[in-house]
Amino acid sequence: MVPLTDRILDHFPDPTILLDGRRAVVYANGAARDLLDISGVGQDLAMSLRHPRVLDAVDEVLGRNENRTVEVTLPGNTTRNFEMHVSGVPPAPDTKSIGAVLVLRDQTTARRAEQMRADFVANASHELRSPLAALLGFIETLEGPAGGDEDTRVRFLGIMLREAKRMAGLIDDLLTLSRVEINEHVRPTAPVDIAGVLLNVTEALSVQAKASNMPIRVNYGTGLPTVHGEADQLFQVFRNLIENAIRYGGKGEAIDIRVEPADRIPGTGRSGIAVKVTDHGDGIPADAIPRLTERFYRVDKARSKSVGGTGLGLAIVKHIINRHRGHLGVESQIGKGSTFTVYLPAEAPRQGMLPSGEPVALPSSGKP
Ligand code: ADP
Repeated sequence: MVPLTDRILDHFPDPTILLDGRRAVVYANGAARDLLDISGVGQDLAMSLRHPRVLDAVDEVLGRNENRTVEVTLPGNTTRNFEMHVSGVPPAPDTKSIGAVLVLRDQTTARRAEQMRADFVANASHELRSPLAALLGFIETLEGPAGGDEDTRVRFLGIMLREAKRMAGLIDDLLTLSRVEINEHVRPTAPVDIAGVLLNVTEALSVQAKASNMPIRVNYGTGLPTVHGEADQLFQVFRNLIENAIRYGGKGEAIDIRVEPADRIPGTGRSGIAVKVTDHGDGIPADAIPRLTERFYRVDKARSKSVGGTGLGLAIVKHIINRHRGHLGVESQIGKGSTFTVYLPAEAPRQGMLPSGEPVALPSSGKP
């Protein structure tokens, strides 16, 4: 019969190990056995965890009323970071032979989030610094003798305007992203007129589409349910997707938008609508698709910059769709084109009934 404490510890999510006064394993719960190669009781901890800092910390506290916390990184398919709490247990009749208790707390997600925040600040600064450096360079040149030449002045001012617009666009996108993130947990509950939103977007992009000779065709299926959402944010979603279709689709090729009912939205199982934005451009390599919604990820950096891209458009799309508890699907074929499908659920949740962190499947990314 397994003692009650062991059975309880077996259900603990954190790997937990009990050691005797000679550092041998007395007990390892299920999570610890899954994580470490602990073949049986009675073995020195060093057989399963060859981590000098952990072993030193254990040796220091064994049998004493002392604690240590050690950071542990475990290699594997994906590196995992743990914080290990090592508590010494002084000898006493009721502690039996236990000399120390080890508990591992998984810090992988927190570490990744920290790393992503740091990367994001570094990326955003870098993205702003390059147009700023160009502007400063041109201003200095114009202040010198070259500034007297009319042709040079006009040419440089044109470039300066483009670089300044790039910075303004980037700041707009950064602000949009942070605004969307702030209320991402609050699902919109008012009905939204998708046809009206799509009409506004196609009108706003009509000049751009015409300049590339790309007709935008919108088609509606029958039996469309009402969806709930925030019109301004959905405008932003479809604007970003259709603008990408114009930028990366083939010049002179049509852009097709199809709105149809969706029986089961991937990742949520609910019904709703699917809005498909299809271009007939170069397509996207399969290995790039899961990364598209990462901030500042671009398949072709030079091309994105030349068409005024910030690398944040699809990150914004992902967060808005997350807020709507929807799903973004991406299908693409090299040389044929791409389809971005926005799924939006139909029914609004009853107030107070929605679990706050409903899972939403999106193309996986570093920082969602
Ligand atoms: P950007 O501002 O660079 O367009 P996005 O986040 O909107 O940033 O898109 C990220 C990248 O995904 C783009 O740089 C481009 O390489 C690729 N991409 C997006 N939409 C399409 C599309 N319709 N066809 C081909 N590539 C696309």
